Amino acid sequence: MTLHLRTTAVRLDVKERRVIDRDGNPYAYETLLLATGGSPRHLRFGSESTIYFRTLDDYRRLRLLSEKGDRFAVIGGGFIGSEIAAALAMNGRHVTMIVPEAGIAARAFPADLAESVTQLFREKGVEVLSGKALGGLEESRKGIALTVAGHQPIIVDAVVAGIGITPNVDLAKTANLGVSDGIVVNDLLQTNAPHIYAAGDVANFFNPALNKRIRVEHEDNANTMGRLAGRNMAGAYERYTHLPSFYSDLFELGYEAVGEIDARLETVSNWKEPYREGVVYYLRSGRIRGVLLWNVWDKVERARTLISEGQPLSLVDLDSAIAR
Ligand code: NAP
Repeated sequence: MTLHLRTTAVRLDVKERRVIDRDGNPYAYETLLLATGGSPRHLRFGSESTIYFRTLDDYRRLRLLSEKGDRFAVIGGGFIGSEIAAALAMNGRHVTMIVPEAGIAARAFPADLAESVTQLFREKGVEVLSGKALGGLEESRKGIALTVAGHQPIIVDAVVAGIGITPNVDLAKTANLGVSDGIVVNDLLQTNAPHIYAAGDVANFFNPALNKRIRVEHEDNANTMGRLAGRNMAGAYERYTHLPSFYSDLFELGYEAVGEIDARLETVSNWKEPYREGVVYYLRSGRIRGVLLWNVWDKVERARTLISEGQPLSLVDLDSAIAR
């Protein structure tokens, strides 16, 4: 295996089966995998010191800053925002979160659960400014000053922003590969040029259980899809039918989830202990499309089956559905 480091592929020559790097060097291939992932969206207010938390260097930088500084701002209440804010607070740092939605993870969780999670963050000492947008950011010798409408200026030692990613499709576009919210692949993970495959955050694929195309930005999908793409590139002929799961840990809470976890859907919650342990079902036309396992473990496979069976929730006995 030859590894070419510190360079970037900028163009694909599909006919000649070559990748061209930024210095114009060509690399020949027989079969190619595009696993180009995504790039973090950046704040409108440019600052060298904002950490977007995508790389090992970002982790090292934040670690170092958290050893020296005490005050942190976290922009965004999604995965990065919630996990980093919790981690900093658990290390005794003072954290202010600026979240445009009504609460933490409000796009994913039903309103009462998002409210309860936001409350937990507050109890742990995190200042959560929900329904608020960042109005400006300025660096001075005293620190970084953030402006939020209706609030005193917030002075911090570092800013972490987790405001989503956009799939890196530029390379695919140079070869006229199909692109629509990511690189479009078939169930064998081939693009419209059959010798070019795509996998991971950047790949847009059809999922049979949900009966629609999706793009998934989580570890399980990256691992499972990457492995299958490699196998198919080496001559296997296996279809990607996996419905990926994801997970997160926030203070003493933790969850695993499968399918469509979208607060806009109808939800039915079955709590053993409210907001501490239970299952939330996400429904479309009464049928289960997503399952959130809240401090409920080793039930992902069962949740996948419930979604694949496409049963109306009314036919499911909630107390035994996941336990089986
Ligand atoms: P994310 O989970 O999509 O959350 C982004 C959040 O930032 C959304 O709540 C979004 O709100 C908000 N936002 C957007 N623009 C904003 C702005 N200008 N000011 C304040 N908030 C803003 O993305 P992420 O947290 O950046 O994570 C990046 C990727 O890493 C995601 O693909 C995520 O799945 C992945 N990741 C996964 C895990 C895990 O699986 N446990 C952990 C870490 C990261 P609106 O939607 O209202 O715009």
